[in-house]
Amino acid sequence: MINDNGIDGDAAFPNGPSRQVDPQLASIWARVRGRLQAEVGDVEYRNWLRQMTLIGVDGDEVTVHLPTRFLRDWVRTHYGNRLDALWQAESPTIRRVDIRVGTGVRGTGLAESVAPAITPLAASLGLGAVLANAGTPRADDRLPDLGTLDPRYSFANFVVGKPNAFAQACAQRVAERPASPGFNPLFLYGGVGLGKTHLMHAIAWQLTDPARPGGPATVAYMSAEKFMYRFIAAIRSQSTMEFKEQLRSVDVLMIDDLQFLINKDATQDEFFHTFNALVESGKQIVISADKSPSDLSGLEERVRTRLGSGMVADLHATTYELRISILEAKAAVANVVVPPKVIEFLAHKITTNIRELEGALNRLVAHANLFGRQITLESAHELLHDILKAHERRVTIEEIQRKVSEHWNIRLSDMSSPRRARAVARPRQVAMYLAKQLTSRSLPEIGRKFGNRDHTTVMHAVSRVAELMAVDPAFAEDVELLRRMLEG
Ligand code: ADP
Ligand code: MG
Repeated sequence: MINDNGIDGDAAFPNGPSRQVDPQLASIWARVRGRLQAEVGDVEYRNWLRQMTLIGVDGDEVTVHLPTRFLRDWVRTHYGNRLDALWQAESPTIRRVDIRVGTGVRGTGLAESVAPAITPLAASLGLGAVLANAGTPRADDRLPDLGTLDPRYSFANFVVGKPNAFAQACAQRVAERPASPGFNPLFLYGGVGLGKTHLMHAIAWQLTDPARPGGPATVAYMSAEKFMYRFIAAIRSQSTMEFKEQLRSVDVLMIDDLQFLINKDATQDEFFHTFNALVESGKQIVISADKSPSDLSGLEERVRTRLGSGMVADLHATTYELRISILEAKAAVANVVVPPKVIEFLAHKITTNIRELEGALNRLVAHANLFGRQITLESAHELLHDILKAHERRVTIEEIQRKVSEHWNIRLSDMSSPRRARAVARPRQVAMYLAKQLTSRSLPEIGRKFGNRDHTTVMHAVSRVAELMAVDPAFAEDVELLRRMLEG
């Protein structure tokens, strides 16, 4: 149950209905908001946070309302943890702040405070809340930030291997001859940490190089989130024209992580218009996203078609060879000796993405530098304990059952059947044994997955298999082989 204590220290809605306010709660809320405002600054506070309304406290949870889903999502991702922490600091019994969509206790106050001239646009954006906060425009809101580039993300530092060679070649081509037919837009896609941002920065570095033949180009690089934020801020301060002109005056526009622009109709529209205007005037566009244009959901058809109309290049998951090359290159740059055994170990264990691989190596390097010790396989094991644990493959009981039945050529259904013939009972016991060894399931849970058997049956299977392995090397080898296969 939520206490309906409407508390809002903000004077933005003078017409809001007055309610009974728990004074203690009200003052905590005022302090939490004050701290947040001090942390994030006035502009961000006004744009995203001012509309928060405290609904009440229920047990260890505080509920806060925001008027739109968009605002809710934004505040959740960007300020959720801070809100939790600030409340906890004020009142240790609070565990978390639940941010929901609702009009709080302010009824329709929102609509009244939206400046009439921008209401239709605000409505189409679903962003009335943001626009409602039209305050004094500040110069830094008006200008699109052309983005900052990471000096480490150059072509020289980009290790090329089979999974990224095509994307790298396309990026290089665009950096050499922007806006050539067939390469505009350049759409780079792939999973997290595979080098999309790195390649975009590399293109930007090359194009903005003062020594570039024909002079440095103007490049605007920003994440889709930033693009959105800037666009909204421009609407708020009624400077969309300037924003558009700024964007359209660049030679190259790069939008990183386009997936975050999805489903934000008006920003998508704006992006599309800017996009067309730029391409038509012979400017280069570079886009990155986590999926290909055809797999990105929430895109309008015309936008999708446009995005896929140039060059689409994907960054594939890394291979063992690429991981080795990247580790060797990074170790060389760090000027630290990393034994081949350690490099192989890392490349073998950390397969998710390059960012994690880099993180693991950085930790070893930092340790070596701080303590002046050499990196060894043992120290790597020790220092990366947590990372390695997180990468241990999660094996499921179903997988175990499948592999074991394949191995002994029995039916999968025999894993849960009541049949007790040795030819099926033994493999079943092995599967139970492996389930105990390789998963974190309890004995009763395992029993249930094997045709609702009792946990004592599982216990018996585990000790029986262990006994047999001790006396029968061929059997032990079979079980070990299965285990290795399952562990991947
Ligand atoms: P994405 O944008 O695809 O999520 P990033 O470009 O941020 O990934 O790459 C993650 C990290 O891995 C960065 O530090 C980047 O420098 C590094 N990285 C990615 N690919 C390579 C590569 N081929 N060679 C060297 N470093 C790479
Ligand atoms: Mg990125």
